[in-house]
Amino acid sequence: MNEPLSFVHPTADSPWGTYLMQVDRVVPYLGHLARWVETLKRPKRALIVDVPIEMDDGRVAHFEGYRVQHNMSRGPGKGGVRYHPDVTLEEVMALAAWMSIKNAAVNLPYGGAKGGIRVDPKGLSNKELERMTRRYTSEIGIIIGPQQDIPAPDVNTNPQIMAWMMDTYSMNTGTTATGVVTGKPIHLGGSLGRVKATGRGVFVTGREAARRIGLDLDGARVAVQGFGNVGSSAAELFAQAGSKIVAAQDHTGSIFNAGGFDLADLMPWVKTHGGVGGFPGAEALATEDFWDVACDIMIPAALEAQITSARAMRLKARLVLEGANGPTVTSADDILSERGVLVVPDVICNAGGVTVSYFEWVQDFSSFFWTEDEINVRLDKIMIGALKKIWDTADKHRITLRTATFAVACERILTAREERGLYP
Ligand code: GLU
Repeated sequence: MNEPLSFVHPTADSPWGTYLMQVDRVVPYLGHLARWVETLKRPKRALIVDVPIEMDDGRVAHFEGYRVQHNMSRGPGKGGVRYHPDVTLEEVMALAAWMSIKNAAVNLPYGGAKGGIRVDPKGLSNKELERMTRRYTSEIGIIIGPQQDIPAPDVNTNPQIMAWMMDTYSMNTGTTATGVVTGKPIHLGGSLGRVKATGRGVFVTGREAARRIGLDLDGARVAVQGFGNVGSSAAELFAQAGSKIVAAQDHTGSIFNAGGFDLADLMPWVKTHGGVGGFPGAEALATEDFWDVACDIMIPAALEAQITSARAMRLKARLVLEGANGPTVTSADDILSERGVLVVPDVICNAGGVTVSYFEWVQDFSSFFWTEDEINVRLDKIMIGALKKIWDTADKHRITLRTATFAVACERILTAREERGLYP
C-alpha cells in the first residue's frame, strides 16, 4: 500500500530522511490519530518549474524552481523561498514539512509549504535577480495566493525580493495583493518587527530554556553558525542580555574571541564584507575547530545537517538553539541527548519569523497596522506559551523537546485531517 515515494531517495542524514525519522518517533504518542500519519510522509503537492531569464549579456539562462505544499489541513500553505545552488526537490520537501510542524507547534492557522530556486544569487546582477524572481513568481502563481499559499523570505531572499513577488502576483491578477507574501518592505504592507522576528524567537526560547537549566545568560558564551538575518539578530539580543558572542562562522570564515566580539564593529564589517571572515576584532579559526569552541550556547543558524554525529560528540555547549531548519541529523540528536545537551529544536526555536509573518498577513487583511511593541509583546507571548506546552509534553512522556514538538504539532494537524475527512 504505502510505498515510499519514487521521486526522492532520502538517506539517514538527508533532509527528507531526517524528517521521516522525526515523524516515525512521534507515532507512539499519537493514539488513534496514528491512523493518519502516512499523510505526513508525503507532500500534498509539489510543483517543479523552469525559470528561463535573459541575462544582461543577452544569453538565456534556465533555473530550476520549486514550490512544495506539504500539508494544508489547518489552513493555507505558508513558508519561505530559498535561493541557493544546493536547493533540491528533496530539500524543499523537507523544509515544507518542517513548516507544517512549526506552524502547528505555535498554533498558526496555516499548513506548511516552501519554495526554492537552484541558483547562486551572488552570481546574478540585481536586474537578473529581479527577472528570475518575477518569472518564478509567475510560474508558481497557479498555486500561490493570499488564501492558498503565502511565500516569505528564507536563505538569500529578502524584503526587496518579496516586493517583486507581491508586484508580479498583483499584476498578474489585477489586484493589490499585499497578503500573497510576507516579509515585505514596511510601506508595501510589511510588518514592523518582521526582519528581526526569527532571531528574536531564537532568543526568547533560548532565554526560557536557559532559565530552566539554570544557565545565566549574563556572561554566557555563545557561538553562532551563520551570521545572516537570523544569526546576527539572535546574537544582538544575547549580547544585550549580557552574553558574550565568542565564535561565529559563515561561508567567508570562522572567527573567535574569548572575550566576546564587539557587535558594534562586527555588524558593519559583515555588511560591507559580506561575512564574518577577516574581522579584525577576532582570531581566525579553521572551519572544523569552530565546533570545539568552549561555549555554553551553540546557535546553528545556517543550513541543514551541520551538526553531524562527529561534531555532536565534540560540542562543548549545554544548550543548542536551532535557528536554522534541520541543522541536526538524527544520529547527532541522539548523541546530544545522551550527553545531556539540551536542544531547542528548529520547529519551535525559529518559529518567530513565521509568527510575525502571520501578524503581517492579518494586518494586511485588516489594513490596520500594529506598533513594533505590540508585535514583540504578542510574539514573545506566543513563543513562551508554545514552548511551555511542548516542555510539559516532553516531561509527561519523558521525550526530547523535538519529539514533544512533533507530538503537539502532529496531533493538531492530524485532528484537523480527521475532522475534515477524506474527499471524496
Ligand atoms: N523562512 C522562514 C522559516 O523557515 C519564515 C517563513 C515564513 O515567514 O513564512 O520559518
